[in-house]
Amino acid sequence: MTYAPETPEIAIVGGGIVGLVLAAGLTRRGVQVKLFEQARNFREIGAGIGFTRNTVNCMEKISPGVVRALRSGGSVNVSLDQTDPKSYLRYINGYGLQREDDPMYQKPLLRLDAGIKGWETVRRDQFLDDLVKEIPEGVIHLQKKLSMIVDEEDRDKVVLQFTDGTSVEADAVIATDGIKSTARKILLGADNPASYPQYSHKVAYRALIPMDKVIAAIGEYKTHKQHMHVGPNAHLIHYPVNTNTIGATVVISDPNNWPLDKPTTARGSRKDVLEALANWSLPVRNLVNLFPEELDQWALFDLAEYPVPKYNKGRVCLVGDAAHASSPHHGAGASFGVEDVLCLCTMIPEQTGQFTRELNLSKGDALRAAFETYDKMRRTRTQWLVNSSRRVCDLFQQPDWADPAKRVKAESCFEEVKDRSFQIWHFDSGKMEEDTIRDYKERVGA
Ligand code: FAD
Repeated sequence: MTYAPETPEIAIVGGGIVGLVLAAGLTRRGVQVKLFEQARNFREIGAGIGFTRNTVNCMEKISPGVVRALRSGGSVNVSLDQTDPKSYLRYINGYGLQREDDPMYQKPLLRLDAGIKGWETVRRDQFLDDLVKEIPEGVIHLQKKLSMIVDEEDRDKVVLQFTDGTSVEADAVIATDGIKSTARKILLGADNPASYPQYSHKVAYRALIPMDKVIAAIGEYKTHKQHMHVGPNAHLIHYPVNTNTIGATVVISDPNNWPLDKPTTARGSRKDVLEALANWSLPVRNLVNLFPEELDQWALFDLAEYPVPKYNKGRVCLVGDAAHASSPHHGAGASFGVEDVLCLCTMIPEQTGQFTRELNLSKGDALRAAFETYDKMRRTRTQWLVNSSRRVCDLFQQPDWADPAKRVKAESCFEEVKDRSFQIWHFDSGKMEEDTIRDYKERVGA
């Protein structure tokens, strides 16, 4: 075993939100990083994304540059309420005529308090553009599609091969290549069902709509505040994504299959959404009437049926959606990827510090141990999210909402929704950092 004093050289595969946050965190800690992205340019769709306070705290610890990008990308408090700086998620009945004398009335069901500036929302494309600016020059390599990883015990380095016939070496590979991860398939094998995402039988339609039009459609109060409208077999969420735009997403149950070889987006129309929401309340239908006439239908896949049995193998590990792609009903998939990144960044000073030197650990052994610790710290929580997201979607979309005699029963779900949400929002990242260091040190015998 040879001790190599210099910092490790890490290859990141995939330049989505999680890969870029990781690159920002590792470069800040002096790690030599190369990020390989298959696309010609970085791209995110023009839709909203939200992060609760604990995720923004994780971003701050990873690198203040990530929070800078979030804010310069135009993030706003999810509730633009001039009289109350807190962020709330308001659940509201979206179905049917609820008061004869007022067709705009919708019954409030639950108001979850996320605290002062407790939930920040932003346009994904603008956040990603500004995140790229935080990555030092020379780190990013575009048009590099990973095809194979070779990690042999007796070789100093791991080899990454790309579809253009080129290859590179690194001390370790962190794969953030998303829900259709190539790295996952390489690690688990093509015969393993966990190598492939599974259809959750939900489709989503998303739109960005000028705020003044939304005010005319649903009223000022609802426009400025995040609302989740629940009802039979569908739900709708909307929130401001900057000071003049509302992001809205409708999720509809789909009993049909969606083959994996079919693209995950298909052409859809506003008419389809209005048909699915035929008996919903007037504000919901008014809002959907502002969606474009033609729009994408997004099939929602996840890794719920066949979770990944282990997030690491040797000097390779899976992070973000590559490890635990979730349906979006908690709005926390990327946030859990950010928590993964903090866990990994926490171990970096330990891998290069005094005690590693004293133990005469090789870089390979230090990284293998770090990835074991990462798997132990992150797998249970992230797989819980994947399951919980499906569970809360079932609660939001209970058929019982359509039956006045069963509405009280349907409403009793909100205690569970609250508990599940708080498990996400009140995560103690400081404890995760402490546990991570303790486990890593025990593992390497420090
Ligand atoms: P991705 O964003 O998928 O990035 C993967 C990258 O890897 C891509 O750039 C891809 O081109 C590249 N890549 C793939 N294969 C290769 C290869 N072989 N070689 C090289 N590069 C490759 N999360 C939240 O936290 N808050 C929210 O409010 C929220 N809302 C959501 C709403 C909806 C409707 C949906 C669908 C999801 C939502 N999520 C939310 C989840 C969030 O979008 C994802 O968890 C997050 O984008 C995953 O990021 P990632 O970087 O892991 O993967």
